[in-house]
Amino acid sequence: MAKSTAQNTAAATGQCLCGAVQFEIGIPARWAWHDHSGATRRAHGAAYATYVGSWRSRFRVTKGRAKITRFEDKATRTTRSFCARCGTPIVYERAHSPQMVNIPRALFGGRTGREPRYHIAIAELQDWTYLGETLVPLKGFPGVVWERPAKKQRRQVIRGQRTGYRAPDDHDE
Ligand SMILES: [Zn+2]
Repeated sequence: MAKSTAQNTAAATGQCLCGAVQFEIGIPARWAWHDHSGATRRAHGAAYATYVGSWRSRFRVTKGRAKITRFEDKATRTTRSFCARCGTPIVYERAHSPQMVNIPRALFGGRTGREPRYHIAIAELQDWTYLGETLVPLKGFPGVVWERPAKKQRRQVIRGQRTGYRAPDDHDE
């Protein structure tokens, strides 16, 4: 959190990858949600994006306004702004909600005053999205963890319950 120099109200600050674009919103933000739609998935190059919605009047670009480029998607009546230097998505605007600007949660270094408890387009959730499955260290690769779905299924099918059973092809110690 930081104090806004303009209005001396609490603000959350964020920036793009290269730092050319910096901005702030007044906190608490209006709301926050996870967007699983195909358009957002591609725009971010990620399984989904988590956005923080702010009243437009409480959003301010504090550095690099000239570095921001816009892509208007006329089919969906949405506009996505991003840093022309590093490509980081900055603002996602939707025509049906013109008073709001939506900013990737990941760009903020601190708290925004809202937890992302809502999901949009959850039906498009990808089956490769990480959902908190149990992970274990991968032997021989420090810092790498992985999940072993085959082992868990084998346990359930063969033993009918969780046991200490281990298949011979498991790649752990
Ligand atoms: Zn940048």
